[in-house]
Amino acid sequence: MTATTYYAETADRQLSEAQRILDRHITSSATGRCMECGTLGPCHKRENAVVIFSRTLRLPRRQPGVTRPELVGARRVCEPESSYGFG
Ligand SMILES: [Zn+2]
Repeated sequence: MTATTYYAETADRQLSEAQRILDRHITSSATGRCMECGTLGPCHKRENAVVIFSRTLRLPRRQPGVTRPELVGARRVCEPESSYGFG
């Protein structure tokens, strides 16, 4: 559990740091340069922050029913007409 907490805190810290970088390292549409570094944007700091965000967004999300359980004969537990022989 300690490891999980540690991971979550680390991920949170990475994300807020990445957000901070994205907020500051903005490529100026006028000059094409990063407004923080002054280098031609997007600068490498911003690129790194974008990578952190894209990693986070790739975390698996569960969608109920997306595996199509009905195709292998699975039934919903809450079906109104149950197969237990009532009624
Ligand atoms: Zn920058």
